[in-house]
Amino acid sequence: MSSRSARALLSVLTGAGLMFAVPAATPAFASSAPVAAAEATVTDGCYTWSGALSEGASGEAVRQLQIRVAGYPGSGSQLAIDGQFGPGTKAAVQRFQSAYGLSADGVAGAATFNKIYELQDDDCSPVNFTYGELNNCNSDWSGGKVSAATARANALVTMWKLQAMRHAMGDKPITVNGGFRSVACNSSVGGAANSRHMYGHAADLGAGSQGFCALAQAARNHGFTEILGPGYPGHDDHTHVAGGDGRFWSAPSCGI
Ligand SMILES: [Zn+2]
Repeated sequence: MSSRSARALLSVLTGAGLMFAVPAATPAFASSAPVAAAEATVTDGCYTWSGALSEGASGEAVRQLQIRVAGYPGSGSQLAIDGQFGPGTKAAVQRFQSAYGLSADGVAGAATFNKIYELQDDDCSPVNFTYGELNNCNSDWSGGKVSAATARANALVTMWKLQAMRHAMGDKPITVNGGFRSVACNSSVGGAANSRHMYGHAADLGAGSQGFCALAQAARNHGFTEILGPGYPGHDDHTHVAGGDGRFWSAPSCGI
């Protein structure tokens, strides 16, 4: 649970009539929550898993897990967010576990979930990216080629892919200069007629400390099926990454 989660919980308690401030360092939920012998009860402001998940599991809990490990599909691949815990999900969980120094058994249990809770904010976005960064077109995600809810959900997956890429590149900040575009926003910036920006899948990255080519090269390992960068028309000043069907990578100046 992030400190934001703790503050949110505190504000809920205060709103419920608690008269005295609880010291910030005190986990307000710990005193009354039952604690199992094997693992401590954890609550998270975004989503809390109720038990371990392994190959063969299915349902919403698996789908929520898949969103969080979408950045670990293996080079050139994209993880299906389908609620079915198959071999691809197991391998993605193993890569996530390895990336964070956990036992890489491919079973999502307490250690894996606790790491995810550390990495996510109360709105379910990963701690180093925000919905606002992924949408500088409008505030309600409307007017794209998919429903607002779908566009926002696609952007969430994109953010988790970026979080994985950021970690793999040494946890240095990644600059996001835009993401979702309504059809009108896309037209006004001269975007391609079927741009993945209108689906919420795409993000345009600034050079940051990594440089456009390093970003484009790393993106190949983190679930981005569309990568456009230096040498591709119109992409000498940013690296475009996106998920979605089919693969198209082109950044000739970067060897892609
Ligand atoms: Zn773009």
